[in-house]
Amino acid sequence: MSVQHQEQLRKIIQSIVIAHQDEQMDCETCSGQLECLAEKVAGGANLRDLLPEVEAHLVCCADCAEEFQALVCILRAEQSGLLKHIE
Ligand SMILES: [Zn+2]
Repeated sequence: MSVQHQEQLRKIIQSIVIAHQDEQMDCETCSGQLECLAEKVAGGANLRDLLPEVEAHLVCCADCAEEFQALVCILRAEQSGLLKHIE
């Protein structure tokens, strides 16, 4: 393989790696979205329709998945009982 080809290959691999990193959502970005998403999901929306990137992250990140479930639970509880109680 020539040096030129090696350089080309290196660039291609690098661009793939960078593109992949862009797809991967980190926990910080994810939890920034969780509260807003949990509100919508608690209201009956589907997470997959809202933000597939977040759903993909929740599948492989137990911490964020737990946080999200907890938020949805709280919001559902508020919607079903607590709000009436306050009113
Ligand atoms: Zn996470």
